[in-house]
Order: sequence, then structure tokens, then C-alpha cells
Amino acid sequence: MKDLKIGTKCVQGGYTAGNGEPRQVPIIQSTTFKYATSEDMGKLFDLEASGYFYTRLQNPTNDTVAAKICELEGGTAAMLTSSGQAASFYSVFNIASCGDHIVASSAIYGGTYNLFAVTMKRMGIDFTFVSPDCSDEELNAAFKENTKAVFGETIANPALKVLDIERFAKAAHDHGVPLIIDNTFATPVNCRPFEWGADIVTHSTTKYIDGHGVSVGGCIVDSGKFDWTKYPDKFPGLCTPDESYHGVTYTERFGLEGAYITKATAQLMRDFGSIQSPQNAFYINLGLESLHVRMKKHCENGLAVAKALQQDDRIEWVTYPGLEGDSEYALAQKYLPNGSCGVVSFGVKGGRKSAEAFMKGLKITAIETHVADARSCCLHPASATHRQMNDDELTAAGISPDLIRFSCGIEDAEDLIADIKQALDNI
Ligand SMILES: *Cc1c(COP(=O)(O)O)cnc(C)c1O
Repeated sequence: MKDLKIGTKCVQGGYTAGNGEPRQVPIIQSTTFKYATSEDMGKLFDLEASGYFYTRLQNPTNDTVAAKICELEGGTAAMLTSSGQAASFYSVFNIASCGDHIVASSAIYGGTYNLFAVTMKRMGIDFTFVSPDCSDEELNAAFKENTKAVFGETIANPALKVLDIERFAKAAHDHGVPLIIDNTFATPVNCRPFEWGADIVTHSTTKYIDGHGVSVGGCIVDSGKFDWTKYPDKFPGLCTPDESYHGVTYTERFGLEGAYITKATAQLMRDFGSIQSPQNAFYINLGLESLHVRMKKHCENGLAVAKALQQDDRIEWVTYPGLEGDSEYALAQKYLPNGSCGVVSFGVKGGRKSAEAFMKGLKITAIETHVADARSCCLHPASATHRQMNDDELTAAGISPDLIRFSCGIEDAEDLIADIKQALDNI
């Protein structure tokens, strides 16, 4: 599979049917797995043999779908989670605990910001947020003795800032920590962060990977490239025996390619249990099979809508990474040459009030706390997802109070533009 193109991996990755076996990935909707002897099962618990015993830890359907996403990203190991939130949480908590510190881009998904700044802070993990546009000096100054990782989004939701992954990877590596990238909006079809130096990738599979608004889910992929053993004092959880798991030292037993994901499975999934259901993993796989085809159309529509908005004098501003003249255009050309995503952000003249009136006028575009669906949808974050942020925090995250996030589906662009125009007429 390794040498195949991305579209072929979308369709065929992760699973090969044997003689007489199902062509489609089987849904193994079973909590448990049967063994002939206690010794057989004991070997699994000791991590001496690989196999399934309880779906909270591992399930064949989930593993198959995780393997496909792993191939798409070019990683060495991956796991599915019940949501993107769980993936973001596990990705950080797997290598940071009470007393540690993380550097994060300030332009990230509102739910992730809240997870970091409020909930994980309550757990004793401290975050320093830096603008993706900060200078190298500012970026380097954000690191502390106890920094354990850097976190950012390829394309920030909803600010649509494109992260300079190479620059952030270099800063992370200069300080001996990995770069974790939430690649939800770009998807591995449009950007593979490992190729730019990132070490771990997370996804909310709820978005483009599912693509049909069917199932909430997440995924974590490890590149296998970050050498934890160079910093055993910084990452004791990976480099010293885990007394809660049969005294296993993850880096010794599973190598750099498997240590991080095995630890996240054996400890975090065991204890927190944020598993994906096999049924949902099956739905995600159906989404993956057309991801490369849909992303093309999402991007085509995104660009058409962005251009139409740019030419409409009732629009105050438009942000779309693929739009020439956009602040992110140069970074998008570098990291997202085949297209960015289907999400366009803009402000209607007249500010917050006009934004609300515009939203009311939409006909085929639904108001939803969702993006990346085959059906177009639209959101005004300041009054919905980001309402916990004050104006300063909103500005730092690149979200103005008038920002409208328009997620272009895969309908015909002409109809989407017509819907926007009539909603503008209605203000
Ligand atoms: C939606 C989203 C998340 C959270 O994912 P859920 O599946 O809703 O838990 C995380 N990151 C980004 C970029 C998202 O868009």
C-alpha cells in the first residue's frame, strides 16, 4: 500500500480481503473475544501476543479503519477515539501530566481551546498560546523547562489560519519535544503534516473523513519519528516501566513506531474508555472511500464561493486560504497546493446584527454547529461555539464578532452562491 497514490489508499487502504472473505470491512460488533485457555489470554494481557480480548482496548473493525488513516497520513501506528475531542485530549495527556506545560497555537478549534485552557489547566497542565504568525523569537520564548509538546492545526477552525508546520516543527524539535498537528480541516488528501516534520497527527473524523454528518469520531496517528528515548527524563511514561501495565517499557517493547499509540491504548483508553463503536468506524470507512473525490469538490466550491463573496460589495471581508491575496495564500500554496478545504469565513457589512440577519435568510444552507458535511452549512461562532471567549480571546484566535463560517458542501457552486446572494438581499 505504501507506494500507492492517496486516492487508492482512500479506497483500499487498511483492509485486504482474503479468499472468500467479505469485500467490505466487516463490522465486528462484539464486546469480547473468546480464548481456549487462560494462558492464551494471559499472553495478551502481558502484551506478549497481539490479539483482541475486549473492545474498550481494541477492536478489529476499529483497527482496520485506523490502519487506513495511518496509511493515508504515512504514520506507523494509529488509534480511533470516540470523538475529535478525545483524540486531542489523549494526544497531549499521553505525554504530559500535572506540572507540565504545552505550547499551543492560539488559532485552534474552540472546543480544543476550552479543553486546554480550562479543563486540562484544572488537571495541572499549563498552556502558553502563541499566534501562528508570531516571530521565531516569540515562539522560542514560549517554551519552558517543563514543556512537553507543541500543538497546532493545519488549517484552523474557524479562523482558517494556515500553520507554518515546518517552522513550528523546528521550534518543537529544537526544544526536544514533538509537534502535534490537528489535521482535521486539510485531511491527509490535501496535507500530510508528517512530510513537513510533524510527529503526531490528530483528527476529528466527524468532519471531512466522515463527510456525511453520520458519526462523531476521532483518530490519533504517530509518525514513529520522534525519539522519546533521547529525552527519558522528559517522557518517563514512554521510557520507564509502566507499573500499571505489567511493568512494560513502551519504547523498549514496541519501538519508536509503536510506543506512543500502545501507551495511549493501554493506559488512556483502558482508563478513560473513549472508544469508537465498530459501527461508527464502519461509517467512517465509507466516508474515507470517497474522501479524495469529495475534497476536490469541497475545495472547488470553497474557491467559487470565496471569489463570489470577494466581488460582492455587501461583504466586508473574506478569508479563504486558496484565495489569491488572502493572508494565508502563500502558506496554503506551500502546504496545500491541491486545495485547502471547503470552509470560507467572511464578514457581512453591518457587523454582528447583519450577520444574524444574513443567517436567517439562508434557504438551502443549514445553520449548524458543524462543518465539512456533503451538505452546506453555516455558523456564526461568536454567538455559538466561541461564546465562552471574550473579545480579546476571540481576536487572538482570529475570530471577529461578525465572522460567518460557511462550510461549502458538494452541491453545485451556482446554487450555493445564489443562496448567499438572496440571503444578502434579505438583510
Ligand atoms: C470538530 C473539531 C474537533 C473536535 O472534534 P469532535 O469530533 O467534534 O469531538 C477538533 N478539532 C477540529 C479542527 C475540529 O474541527
